[in-house]
Amino acid sequence: MSQTTIERKVVILGSGPAGLTAAIYASRAQLEPLVIDGPQPGGQLTITTDVENYPGFAEGIMGPALMDQFRAQAERFGTEILNVWIDRVDVSQRPFTLYGKASQDAEEISTIIKADTLIVSTGASAKWLGIPGEAPVPEGLGGNGVSACATCDGFFFRGKPIVVVGGGDTAMEEALFLTKFASEVVVVHRREEFRASKIMAERVMNHEKIKILWNTEVKEINGTKEAGVESITIYNSKTGETSVFPTQGVFIAIGHKPNTELFAGVLDMDDVGYIKTEGKTMRTNIPGVFACGDAQDAYYRQAITAAGTGCMAAIDAERFLAEHSHEVERNTATNY
Ligand code: NDP
Repeated sequence: MSQTTIERKVVILGSGPAGLTAAIYASRAQLEPLVIDGPQPGGQLTITTDVENYPGFAEGIMGPALMDQFRAQAERFGTEILNVWIDRVDVSQRPFTLYGKASQDAEEISTIIKADTLIVSTGASAKWLGIPGEAPVPEGLGGNGVSACATCDGFFFRGKPIVVVGGGDTAMEEALFLTKFASEVVVVHRREEFRASKIMAERVMNHEKIKILWNTEVKEINGTKEAGVESITIYNSKTGETSVFPTQGVFIAIGHKPNTELFAGVLDMDDVGYIKTEGKTMRTNIPGVFACGDAQDAYYRQAITAAGTGCMAAIDAERFLAEHSHEVERNTATNY
């Protein structure tokens, strides 16, 4: 099978707000960056609805429309966007090497990408509870009444009662969105106070279609493959009572984990897997590798902060290249 080799000064892994902002800056600096789409091109905003807090859009904008704008802006200045599955990355010497396959299931490496600098903007993914009934069919009911994306699946629950698990802004957003479809939305939260911002929490608490079960943990999702979800088994940590609560849909909204497995053991990370960066920069422990967005930020995790760190990573990469320009031109494969 034929292999394509691509060589670039800047390769950006991930196309959410961080990656595409890095691309806008790198392409305007005439570095002709290559952006590699992850499994979710455009990142998490492509599965959200109204974005009301991204500056510059006074009336709000839909998540996918915002990401289309990011993409078009990056492409306008010469960014190339490639859709390959990155199987492994070698950052032991420069230029770094990324091994790409046509898809996750493909056996052969079809694309080899050589990168003088690498910006990791692989984002984060929804977390799951890890309880019986949650996994995909046939082991569980995932895809058959269990979801982590109201925007994707809310429509299937028209007129049905549903449960949202979590107490952060994602859970609030999912619950509010689901009121458009569901007959009733019940937010199940393990504590008696929401973690979400006050404005979102108040919208939920004041919504006539939303009820809240405080101090409640979901222990199991019950149902059948044919009928879908029928109930959840819940435990009240205040009373110690376990009971069965009928529902037809369960939306898990308990936060995210960074998509950094590709770099495990290579880039310095915290216990959860967020990539560590140096001081005020986006530099990682490997010179020439930078990290930005939700792969690196466990704290703010906003589209605007991701975009900000993407800008910083591109500027850091540009400076790195300027400092090492003679070595890059000679294309020495080892230390600059
Ligand atoms: P968060 O980490 O903020 O919240 C996760 C929630 O899930 C918490 O309430 C947590 O409970 C609960 N939880 C976590 N693990 C479990 C578990 N195993 N079982 C039961 N409950 C669990 O994640 P979000 O995704 O909500 O938000 C992430 C970031 O994105 C935040 O900074 C948020 O502000 C931001 N965001 C902003 C939005 C906006 O402004 N429009 C929209 C969505 C997200 P506990 O509170 O007890 O820890």
